[in-house]
Amino acid sequence: MTAFSLDRSTLDMRRGACPALSSPMMTGDGLLARVALTDPITPSQLADLCRLARRHGNGIVDISARGNLQIRGLSEASAPLLDADVRALNLPLRDGLAVETPPLAGIDKTEIADPRPIAEAIRQGAREIVDLAPKMSVVVDGGGQLRLSDLLADIRLVAVSTDEGLRWTLLLGGTETTGRVFNVLRETEAVSATLALLRKLGKKGPKARGRDLAAGLSTNGAPGRTASPFGTFRLSGDLFAAGIGPAFGQANAEDLIALCNEAERLGIQSLKPALDHSLLVFAGQTACEALAAFAGNNGFITSPSDPRSAIAACPGSPACSSATVATHELSAKAAEDCGDLLDGSFKLHVTGCPKGCAHPEPSALALCGTAAGLSLIAQGKAADKPFASVAFADTNNSLRRIADLVRDERRAGENSAACLARLGPRRLAAAVTSGRS
Ligand code: SF4
Repeated sequence: MTAFSLDRSTLDMRRGACPALSSPMMTGDGLLARVALTDPITPSQLADLCRLARRHGNGIVDISARGNLQIRGLSEASAPLLDADVRALNLPLRDGLAVETPPLAGIDKTEIADPRPIAEAIRQGAREIVDLAPKMSVVVDGGGQLRLSDLLADIRLVAVSTDEGLRWTLLLGGTETTGRVFNVLRETEAVSATLALLRKLGKKGPKARGRDLAAGLSTNGAPGRTASPFGTFRLSGDLFAAGIGPAFGQANAEDLIALCNEAERLGIQSLKPALDHSLLVFAGQTACEALAAFAGNNGFITSPSDPRSAIAACPGSPACSSATVATHELSAKAAEDCGDLLDGSFKLHVTGCPKGCAHPEPSALALCGTAAGLSLIAQGKAADKPFASVAFADTNNSLRRIADLVRDERRAGENSAACLARLGPRRLAAAVTSGRS
């Protein structure tokens, strides 16, 4: 049994704070509690969670970039009630260290190795380790159709097939591209090496992160960008998965309940919130396709070609009191107007303030709300130096001018990310200011 904590130190809006179910975090629209699951649940269990979000919160449910459910708009009085009611549902809730595996692990015939036994052994072994950072995370990625390459991790194990057999590359900090290679290990060594590193981090205290052990190590040059979870995936046997997502990672409880009811009607028994703000449902091909069609007709993202899936937007205004812009409105307009720019080769980062909660890594293009309007940042994080600043009223036009420039300048076979990088901040700034009088 986990005790509920409303310690004031958790009620802040600092980055790095972790809004777990029993220690919710204060946001602009009240307390936010996270429901992290280790295994799939049924559509009716998800509908039950949505009803609790409506009863105890403001009825807004997020699916985070890491695939956690987040229930918003709780009060100090309602948050403990939500905690108790969620625990009474007997869901497979994650307790302790976050050890994440790809959402298709164990049922994806293209994976190099099933990462779940290693992940479970790390989870068990880490139970005795104290003083780890609250957001410490371990990724165990066995390969396959949906990888976790772009998620930040303190420690990452990645399966590789070698002439000598299966090996696990252990990386420290960052994504799979930016993480530093610590070692390449046999399966039997991977768990003990990870636990030894976690013990070392525990000894350093709750501020220590994986990157702190990476001095002097190099990256392995792995390419970035995980495949989109939206669309249909063929798994083992007759099993398929359909990836569906609420626009910008946020849905009304009613819309999710309607989706769950339809899933039940179609005989779907299993679903799981997953990476990149998606919901993966597992069933036969016909049921998966029927649910995806229902979801598409009801405003959900169902395809990687949906430009909304190429935008990372934080909740923004009015949900977050730090926000100066309505990020979802801005993002919806960008998706409508700039579909060819949003080709899936990069995430357009739309953020209500420089904290950049929705995309901690650099992006090819970011729009950041400021007191005076919006900053535009190229190849950087939200807090980096902008190449242009525009008034609120000019935002859509500015973005359209960038989209026009990329359309005109794109070379054969070049995607938007590569084109934006080649054009550089000076050309982008000139395009933004070109139409101004
Ligand atoms: S990035 Fe967005 S959600 Fe995060 S604090 Fe700023 S406005 Fe709020």
